[in-house]
Order: sequence, then structure tokens, then C-alpha cells
Amino acid sequence: MAKEPGKEIKHTREDTEQPLVLPGIHRYQFFSNLKDRGWTMNLDRVALFGVVAALLATILKPLARGNPATIYCYECRACYATQDRCPVGIFFQAELAVAARVGDYDRFIRNGGLKCIRCGNCQSYCVQYLPLPQMFGAMQEDTREAIRRKLAPRYVLARAMREGLVGKEFIDDVVKALG
Ligand code: SF4
Ligand code: SF4
Repeated sequence: MAKEPGKEIKHTREDTEQPLVLPGIHRYQFFSNLKDRGWTMNLDRVALFGVVAALLATILKPLARGNPATIYCYECRACYATQDRCPVGIFFQAELAVAARVGDYDRFIRNGGLKCIRCGNCQSYCVQYLPLPQMFGAMQEDTREAIRRKLAPRYVLARAMREGLVGKEFIDDVVKALG
């Protein structure tokens, strides 16, 4: 709609001064006029900021914790195919990879992360050939530090001891934390 001289148009949904890119569509023509949207006019910006912040957290957290390879895990679960080739009976290696990325001690311990002996048998099942033994080893040391600093919940440690999920390298630390 063309603007009549001397008449202010407050709620136009087209801008005929912009070039026509398709029949009836001018470049920069909005579906809704920002003035109509009131409180929600910045909602898309807030949502975009949230998405970017979440992405940055996903990348920056593993970098800060010295476990950058975990960023590349697709969470595709192909490494579950390791099955009984894991000598200590860990079936959900992807759980360990994700726990290592986000620093989730409970998830790591619950899935047997503290009994991994870093043999590397699971690595060839990873579609990206990620260095799973190193990723799990780095998370084991993070978890050991968390146990020493009493950051790992007591009930998680007690359950892990009951279920035989603690490797011999970590038993002293766990027993001390429970004592
Ligand atoms: S590296 Fe750990 S999780 Fe992988 S097969 Fe060996 S013991 Fe199992
Ligand atoms: S196969 Fe590799 S990329 Fe896929 S979930 Fe397992 S560790 Fe992640």
C-alpha cells in the first residue's frame, strides 16, 4: 500500500519502496509488523541468544575441563556395538562420552566409568574414531578430584561400591569419601 502524502500509516505490512523480489513480495517485508507484537518483539532475539549460549556452553565446558574430543561425539551410540569386547562389561560407552562432555559425575559413575581400564577396545566402534580411552581417562581424573572434594553425591558412591562399579584405582578415594 502506497503512503498517501501527509497521512502516517502506522501498521503497514508491506514496504513498496523495497525492490520486488517475487510477485507481491518486497524485500524486507515482514510477516508481522513489529509494533503489533508488543512484548514479544524481542522474543526471537532472546531465543537466539539462548541457543547460542547453549552451544557455547557445549563447546566451552569440555575445552575448559581439558577434554575437547568429547565435543565431537555425535551421540550416535554406534560404540554400543563393543558389547562383550569391553573387558570390564561396560555396555554404554556413549553414556560415558556424554557424561565426560558435560561433567556429569553421577552419570559417569552409574555407567561404570570408574571401572574402565582404558584398553581401547571400544574405539574402533566409534564412527569418528574418537580417542575414547583418553576421553574416559580424563573424566576419571575429574571424577577422582570431585570425589576428593566431596562433590560427588555420597549415595552415588555407595551405590557404585555395592554394584561393583569402582575400579581398583579408585577404591581408596571412594572408601575415604564414604568413611
Ligand atoms: S576403553 Fe574402557 S569402555 Fe572401552 S572397551 Fe576398554 S574398558 Fe571398556
Ligand atoms: S560411536 Fe563415537 S560419536 Fe557415536 S556415540 Fe559413541 S563415542 Fe560418540
